[in-house]
Amino acid sequence: DSWIEIDGLDKEYRPRKSAPTQALSDINLTVRRGEFISVVGPSGCGKTTLLKILAGLSPKSGGAVRIAGRDVTKPLPEVGMVFQAPTLLPWRTIFDNVMVPAEIQRLDPRRHRERAQQLLEMVGLNGFEQKYPHELSGGMQQRAGICRALVHDPAVLLMDEPFGALDAMTREYMNVELLRIWQESNQTIVLVTHSIPEAVFLSDRVVVLSPRPGRIAEVLDIDLERP
Ligand code: ADP
Ligand code: ADP
Repeated sequence: DSWIEIDGLDKEYRPRKSAPTQALSDINLTVRRGEFISVVGPSGCGKTTLLKILAGLSPKSGGAVRIAGRDVTKPLPEVGMVFQAPTLLPWRTIFDNVMVPAEIQRLDPRRHRERAQQLLEMVGLNGFEQKYPHELSGGMQQRAGICRALVHDPAVLLMDEPFGALDAMTREYMNVELLRIWQESNQTIVLVTHSIPEAVFLSDRVVVLSPRPGRIAEVLDIDLERP
């Protein structure tokens, strides 16, 4: 029941105006369905690169990457992604931003409008549905981005430092909410975080990357009794 399979993944960036960078080298990892893994490591170790490749947003240089048995060459509909910086569309309201994945995939509007409303309430954005992104703080925009990633109930959720812009209390609250969603949904989650306590609190396994080039240094099994 391996749901994400990464075999011998390599990634080299070849910018036109500077020297190439080997961002990832020989990454091997399988993630089971319903598993929650975190990826940690120093800046530049390739965390964001790994997520972008899983999201189908960046081409790999070598190796194989499969999600649900399919080769990842473009964004797959069963994958949701939360970006490091909120990337909401400025001309759409918060509610209409959250609905974007459901619209792109032409999913039942009524059901997904209900889901969007439920998610916005869960993250404390009720009352802000009809506002535009620039009317909200960075942390609020980030929470809207999390709702957008969840609105179509993706089987795989990829998150790049989703709580970075949040204050400590909201961050803890979001951690607990995320655990609740995960336990209810059987989602497979890959979370990139700078916070080791957060990784240990949330995940089944913590993948530690080392830089230059990005390699897996260690995979830690977390065996905590969850409430
Ligand atoms: P973080 O360490 O928090 O992931 P970085 O500052 O390393 O953030 O990178 C932020 C983004 O900038 C990356 O997702 C990447 O796409 C881009 N980036 C990083 N390094 C380079 C580079 N050398 N050339 C072009 N883009 C880069
Ligand atoms: P992390 O997220 O762990 O900080 P990144 O995946 O952002 O790491 O970056 C890994 C390496 O790849 C870094 O050396 C970074 O400078 C380089 N890099 C990232 N994005 C780009 C890019 N678009 N062009 C060139 N180099 C990049």
